[in-house]
Amino acid sequence: MQYRRLGKSGLQVSTLSFGSWVTFQAQVDLPLAEEMMSTAFDAGINFFDNAEVYANGASEEIMGQALKNLGWTRDTFIVSSKVFWGGQLPTQRGLSRKHITDACHAALRRLQVDYLDLYFCHRPDESTPIEETVRAMDALITQGKILYWGTSEWNAQQIMEAYGIARQYGLTPPTMEQPEYNMFRRDNVESDYRRLYSEIGLGTTIWSPLASGLLTGKYSNGIPEDSRVNLPGYGWLKRNVESPEGQEKIRKAAELQKIADEIGHSLTNMSIAWCAANPNVSTIILGASRMSQLTENLKALDVLPALTPEVMEKIEAILGNKPAPPPQF
Ligand code: NDP
Repeated sequence: MQYRRLGKSGLQVSTLSFGSWVTFQAQVDLPLAEEMMSTAFDAGINFFDNAEVYANGASEEIMGQALKNLGWTRDTFIVSSKVFWGGQLPTQRGLSRKHITDACHAALRRLQVDYLDLYFCHRPDESTPIEETVRAMDALITQGKILYWGTSEWNAQQIMEAYGIARQYGLTPPTMEQPEYNMFRRDNVESDYRRLYSEIGLGTTIWSPLASGLLTGKYSNGIPEDSRVNLPGYGWLKRNVESPEGQEKIRKAAELQKIADEIGHSLTNMSIAWCAANPNVSTIILGASRMSQLTENLKALDVLPALTPEVMEKIEAILGNKPAPPPQF
């Protein structure tokens, strides 16, 4: 396993990490979660990602129980939660000081830990002033309930606003952003945030490296019955796969498969390694619905030496979607 600093912070996070969206509860029960987390940990993974909204809290309960059963000492792992969607009531959603505080306490209880290492604002909240959110996060840090705070799917301007407010009032600025990043979704990481890496030392914990499985090539011959898109509540994902854009991605995945064959690796691992080739990616959060997927994906960093400039160019030619550079000021 490789370890990378989370942006300019001193925290060393494993380049591959493990998350529980969709999977924990719907596809992965407690015994399997424990086995998978144990396998990930033995492979050097030190970061486990979660959120209040995953399975309406059940994902954090499973992870918390698994952490307890595994008995790792608290100084050996990093665990996260995210706040935004905690329930239907106005007080249970968004990034108000109240919901941030309540959600943090609830996550600590479900995860059975004294503090969260990373705490994310799961989306921007236009109905709460960013200053209120920054102050609420800073208070949780001061109280020792969280160590680092960050954002997920905020744009560069929103992140800079939070950073500016924190600097103005001597509060702790955001350390990391959690964006989607994969061969099919590159704009935020490669373009929008580009100046933030050097200017504020932003770290990134990227999600859906396989575009929910599209970059495994598993959809080439139709939708496999046991894949996430067939789960209740994920009809939107199925519609995405079946849309013309989804079909174009499946076609590109088939082209990418040929390059993977040429370099002698699986498309899955080539796709994960492609994310790791970007030095602005601090960690790649893996998702897996069964142990065989996790054990395959854990080998992804072995592909890095095979991603020569020539191979990267061939991949680029297939993707044909390199984002434009950000505007220069
Ligand atoms: P991926 O894009 O890697 O998708 C993972 C899914 O792809 C698996 O659950 C499985 O689905 C399929 N898959 C994975 N490996 C293989 C394999 N080797 N062979 C065949 N199929 C495979 O990542 P996720 O979308 O799961 O995201 C990863 C993590 O990122 C989440 O757990 C979560 O922690 C975080 N996240 C954060 C978000 C945010 O807004 N901040 C949003 C989404 C995710 P199946 O078997 O069902 O087909």
